[in-house]
Order: sequence, then structure tokens, then C-alpha cells
Amino acid sequence: MTIPLMPLPYAHDALEPHISRKTLEIHHGAHHKTYVDRLNAAIEGTENAGKPLEEIIKSASGPLFNNSAQTWNHGFYWHSLSPEKTAPSESLATAIKNDFGSIDALLEALSNEAVNHFSNGWAWLVVESGKLKVISTHDAATALTGGANPLLTIDVWEHAYYIDQQNKRPAYVKAVLENIVNWKFASDNFDRGTPWTYPA
Ligand code: FE
Repeated sequence: MTIPLMPLPYAHDALEPHISRKTLEIHHGAHHKTYVDRLNAAIEGTENAGKPLEEIIKSASGPLFNNSAQTWNHGFYWHSLSPEKTAPSESLATAIKNDFGSIDALLEALSNEAVNHFSNGWAWLVVESGKLKVISTHDAATALTGGANPLLTIDVWEHAYYIDQQNKRPAYVKAVLENIVNWKFASDNFDRGTPWTYPA
């Protein structure tokens, strides 16, 4: 049994003009696929073969951690984006108001975290100890292992935006936050209260 390359939940051109078809083809079909392929090569014939991805991540280190966490992070990222206009559920909207004051204030906090994060990594909206928080993680590090419940993520590795925006990460972050955030996914994660699981 191998860990699958999770299919994109929309067509490759569905996020245009905010994220191009070419970016999604390479980001999903090459970057995400390579993490999955390397993960499967590493677990074949070991005690990790057949285990859920989340379990592998939690006990892994080194290259196995990098490839398993990047497999999960990318699956979570594809769902964090949506071509359809979505809105936070009532319960998530209330939490945003309580913890950030407004959705605009939350978006600004997420934007600052994503834009200012140094080098490769991920910006996240999470629930930690009952409170919404914006955090970032470096390289393959994932909010999944920090004891928080991740609601949304933005990939800020350069491969997420270089084709469309070259070095202009702020333009990519703005395009994502203003147009293609999947609030339905964030709300589902918030209302369920336990971390999303990668499809088996
Ligand atoms: Fe990526």
C-alpha cells in the first residue's frame, strides 16, 4: 500500500488568473508528486508501509520527515484554495471576531506572516488552546505536529509563485488572500475540531 498523490480538488486552470495552470501543473504534478514518490520509496518494505500519513509524519525525522510532511502540507494547501467564493461558517466567523477583531484584521495578520516569513515555508491559520492563531513554519515543518488544529495554509516556497510572480511574494499572497481562500475548508476544520487527514 502506498500513499497516493492526492488529486487536485479543481481543474488546473480553475484558479486563474490568481494562480496559473502552468504553476499548478508543475507544483502538483512535479513538486508534490516528487515528495510522494520519495516518501513511498522510503517506506517500502519498512514498518511504515501501510501506516496513515499522519502517523508516519509524527515519528519521522530527516528526509522521511521532509517528504512525508511535504506530502501532507501540499494536500492541505490544495484544499485551502478554492475557485468558488466561500465564507466562514457562523462559528468560525464568531471566533475570528473574538480573536482578531475582524476578518480584515485576520487577513492582514496572515499576509504579514506569509510575506515576512524568511525563505521557504508555510503560513498557517490554526486553533491552539481554543484560540485562533497565525503562525509560520520553516521548510517542511508542519502545523500538524505542533499540537494545533490547522485551518488554512499558504505555501510560501518560491515554487508556489515564481512562474506567475517571479520574486514578488507579496503579489502572490495578496492574490490568494483576496480571491481564492477556501473558507469552507477552514470552517469544516474548525467545526470538526480535529486535524484534517490526508486521503488514503
Ligand atoms: Fe509547494
